This record gives sequence, C-alpha cells and structure tokens, in this order.
Amino acid sequence: MYTINEHYLKLQGSYLFSTIAKKVADYQQSHPEARIIRLGIGDVTRPLVPAIIEALHKAVEEMGTAEDFHGYGPEQGYAFLRECIARHDYLSRGCAVSAEEIFVSDGAKQDVGNIQEIFGLNNKVAVCDPVYPVYVDTNVMAGRTGAFSEKNGGYEGLIYLKCREENGFAPELPEERPDLIYLCFPNNPTGMTITKEDLQKWVDYANAQGSVILYDAAYEAYITEEGIPHSIYECEGAKRCAIEFHSFSKNAGFTGLRLGYTVVPRELVCNGVSPHELWNRRHGTKYNGAPYIVQRAGEAVYSKEGQAQLKEQVAYYMENARLIREGLKEAGFTVYGGVNAPYIWLKVPSGRSSWEFFDDLLEKVQVVGTPGTGFGQAGEGYFRLTAFGTRENTLKALERIRGLKAGD
Ligand code: PLP
Repeated sequence: MYTINEHYLKLQGSYLFSTIAKKVADYQQSHPEARIIRLGIGDVTRPLVPAIIEALHKAVEEMGTAEDFHGYGPEQGYAFLRECIARHDYLSRGCAVSAEEIFVSDGAKQDVGNIQEIFGLNNKVAVCDPVYPVYVDTNVMAGRTGAFSEKNGGYEGLIYLKCREENGFAPELPEERPDLIYLCFPNNPTGMTITKEDLQKWVDYANAQGSVILYDAAYEAYITEEGIPHSIYECEGAKRCAIEFHSFSKNAGFTGLRLGYTVVPRELVCNGVSPHELWNRRHGTKYNGAPYIVQRAGEAVYSKEGQAQLKEQVAYYMENARLIREGLKEAGFTVYGGVNAPYIWLKVPSGRSSWEFFDDLLEKVQVVGTPGTGFGQAGEGYFRLTAFGTRENTLKALERIRGLKAGD
C-alpha cells in the first residue's frame, strides 16, 4: 500500500478561514433573512482602477494578434515588470535591489509557503504568535515540526515569538537561536508595525547568528507614518540575511488577478551556496511564470496614473480603518493597529474568548470578524477586523458592534 505524507496529519483542524466560512454558511442557512457583514477575511472589495483595466484590455488585444501573441514567458517574470519593481520599490528608496534579484509569481502566499523548500529540514523555525498561518502550516507539512501540543498551544519544535500588549505586539529576540525567522510588517493580524531601528536589530541578530529572515511586506502600501521601513533592505546588511515577499493583492486589488514577487538577494550565501540560485532552479522547475496579461497589469500599477489611482484606493481603505479604530475606541473598546495597516486588532471584552466573541458578533449583530486565537495562542483575547469592506458596510458594522457594546 502506498503511504501519505504523515506530517499533514499533524495539521490542526481545517484552515482558519474555512472554519469561519462554515460557521457563517450554517448561520445564514438557518437565518436566511440575515444581512451578514463580512469584515473577516482580508479580501479587497474595490474594483480594479482604470489604469489597470486599460493595461489588461491592451494586453488581451495583443494576445489576439500573431505579432504580439505571448506564449510561455520567462519563469522569473518579464524584464519590463522586474525593472519597474526594482526602480519603484527599491532604487527610489535607496535600496540596491536589481531586477535580476526579483522573481515574479502569481502571489505572495505561494512564495511564503514554498520558500522553506530550499532550506534544510533540520532548520529551526521562528514565527511570531499571533501569525499568518501559512508560515506555520507549510513548515508542519514539510516535517520541520513535531506534533501540535494543546498544552503549549503550538507545534513542538517551533519557536514562537510572543507579540502581546506588553511588548507593543513586536517580537523580541529569542533566547533559543532560530535558523529561519518569519517576520511580517505591517503585521497581519495585529496591524502593528516596527520601526527601522527595531528591524535593524533583527537584521544584525540574523547576520550575527547565521539565520535568514523571511520578510513578508504584503501590507507595505498601507504605511502612513515616517520611520517605518517599507522594505527590510532599508536596513544595513539586510541583503546578506533576508528574503522579502511582496503582493499586488492589497496595494492594487489583485486578489483575483494574482501577482506577487520575491526578492532573493545575490549577497545571501549559505556555506558557499546561493539561495538565489536554488530559488531560481525551483522556480524554473515547478513554475511557468505569471500570465503575460497580468504582468502588464502589474506594470500599470507603477504608471503615473496607476500610482495616483491606487493612492486613492489605499486611502479609501485607510479611512475605513480610521473609522473602525476611532469608532470602537469611542465605544469603549481597546483597539490596536489600523494606522499603518488595514487591520484592527480589537481586545475582546473581558470574560469572553475570541471564538465566543466571534459567535456573539455573528449571532447578535451579524458581523463577521476573525478570532485572534485562529492566528495562534497569543491571539486569544483578541479579534481582527479588516478595513477592506465597502464604506457603507464598514459604517453599518461599526454601528452594530457599538450597539452590542452598549447592550452589554
Ligand atoms: N502575506 C500575508 C501576510 C497576507 O496577509 C496575505 C494575504 O492575506 C498574503 C501574504 C497573500 O498574498 P497573495 O494574495 O499575494 O497571495
């Protein structure tokens, strides 16, 4: 008889968002009249901006002509997009990242999930707690952890960097040395971020310890304050120890189109071996490149019109974030995040667990959010709301949650 990858059996329950979807579907089925507002999953709601639609149309037309038809493209992405990314996201910020170090893909999720493949199975992994679950689950699947321990609230063998109110939801350098360190700023789920000085401490630590930082910058476009790094490569020495992931999902609404990229610097070298070469090899073996049409749409993100239109789009979501944050504060809730990120990390009123609060919101006021505990043990007592809804729904949801609080 064949065998299966037994590490999959260690995975805890179904993926967080499937659990939520099921609860919501069950509720809707038993209450067909309910008008549920979803501020749970981090999907966007605004349509693609005109500059992107125009680029898509143009690329579609090209594909219908013999002269401009595009078949398989370079696996790493077309030069027109990689050069645009290098110029706008790095060189303009004083970071020396070259187009050649950028690998275009169809989204950050697959890259942050797959990157662990090029590292040894005996590597010790550190993640923040709470955490975007993909970092953890993909290492569990690969066999880099032991079983899940109910007692410890995590997988054996993983180093959890607790991010709590006491430390401003910023991870502290671990006592036990990790090989791979996943960091995500602005953070999903807490919506909190880190100063350049604090990130520099992580870079210095990784360089001193011989660790690699896997830096997820999916929410970089939402940074509004000065002194918050948009890229880890703003830190001295980061090209020797960090891989960075970006997504077009949240800055440009590509959750349905799919586009992202990963920077694997040439200077990153492990015992004479180049992770850049390994990732290049992996990309070429397992991936045939993001669609030409979508890469042209990605190019439009960096055009003058695209940049202006997307600035407005991000501002729209950030106004939602401000409304939720201020509105809930006024109603007496303790809230974090929402200043440099589209996520609000709400402290659950005392006496309720995250899932109990989820049920309260769903059943009493028909608002869906995400229980903090779904992101890890340290998320217990917290609840994530996203600013990605429409203004109308955001205001309605806010009103309903305030009503619930008033009725406490
Ligand atoms: N990284 C983080 C931290 C995210 O929150 C998400 C999506 O929610 C992703 C990556 C995935 O992005 P993409 O849509 O590009 O796969």
